[in-house]
Amino acid sequence: MDLTELYQSVILENNRRPRNYRKLPEANRIASGNNPVCGDEITVFVQLDGDRIADISFQGAGCAISQASASVMTQRLKGRTLAEAETLFGRFKEIVTEGKPDDEDLDLSAFAGVHQFPARIKCATLGWHAAINAVHGDSVTASTE
Ligand code: ZN
Repeated sequence: MDLTELYQSVILENNRRPRNYRKLPEANRIASGNNPVCGDEITVFVQLDGDRIADISFQGAGCAISQASASVMTQRLKGRTLAEAETLFGRFKEIVTEGKPDDEDLDLSAFAGVHQFPARIKCATLGWHAAINAVHGDSVTASTE
């Protein structure tokens, strides 16, 4: 399996079986994002404990890149501090806008090919933007419904 196939398998697998795809009853931060150009929608649920993301989940619909990226995002941000989350998002944005994969970070680098399709960069970053908006937003008690 070459690296391109490996990257594609990360995206396909996360799209087929998204991780942390559920509502989070304990969530105290919720944010939604949408990408009308592609029709992607993602809602991120965060249980923030001090400045640490104790738990994180998402629900949504849209293209494989948007859903797979949100799935990877939840796996990478769970347990992280806000500063660590911002750093990771910065690295991910570099990967998808410049197409420079980081060999030590396979699941983020899986999205490096997105840089060839500028319209898809919003698909890849949608879940991450929603997560960062959630942790910086006001606390919520109501559900999104
Ligand atoms: Zn999309």
